[in-house]
Amino acid sequence: MNYDPKIPVSPADRPESERARTLMVQNQLASRGIQSQSILDAFQKVTRHLFVKPEDIGQAYEDHPLSIGFGQTISQPYMVAYMLEALDLRGGEKILEIGTGSGYQTALLAEISAHVYTVERIPELLKSAQTKLDYRNISFQVRDGTLGWPEMAPFDRIIVSAGSPKIPEKLIEQLKDKGIMVIPVGNEFHQDLFRVVRQGDQIIKERKGGCVFVKLIGQEGWQLD
Ligand code: SAH
Repeated sequence: MNYDPKIPVSPADRPESERARTLMVQNQLASRGIQSQSILDAFQKVTRHLFVKPEDIGQAYEDHPLSIGFGQTISQPYMVAYMLEALDLRGGEKILEIGTGSGYQTALLAEISAHVYTVERIPELLKSAQTKLDYRNISFQVRDGTLGWPEMAPFDRIIVSAGSPKIPEKLIEQLKDKGIMVIPVGNEFHQDLFRVVRQGDQIIKERKGGCVFVKLIGQEGWQLD
């Protein structure tokens, strides 16, 4: 949608309106099978347009990823909802998020869990996300998320929002028993979303479908070019 903030439109039709979020929740999430009411409520509440570049506000609630600078993207809303649903959140979880990016997904997680530990490798992105996130249950750090956050481990859930060549060993180590991790694994152009469940010493991996993410760059991920 082309949006010029200088041209007046009625409040309900503005691209950043409550109604724009309602339409996103109905047409992109609920109609495609997202069932968790707490996830749908979080998408209704969190103002995605504040997490995109100002010139992209007109597209903030559209059905695709958007650039957030530094070669990174804010994921398509449906993909975020799909990953959150795969985490099977009940409300009291301690979560590790790898790849803060814009901070949008961090806000959604903060709405539906007990505490979010989020890590990002690009300091400028983390700083920008931090200024937008007014939650008491988020801890931020610039670090290589492929190594997790051992000082705060173990975690009930781990969500990786960048594509990795493999499942980093340290992340499995930092997952609680019966904990769940979702992570895209594959090559640089295409990945499969994996849901990894830890059952004692056993690791159960389930493929949840194809996806495309930016690269997870770090010691246990892709190397910098
Ligand atoms: N969920 C984010 C999407 C971020 S894109 C959002 O809603 O905006 C993926 C992010 O992962 C990028 O910001 C990238 O810089 C970050 N990233 C890549 N490798 C990383 C690593 N090893 N540790 C931490 N963050 C990493």
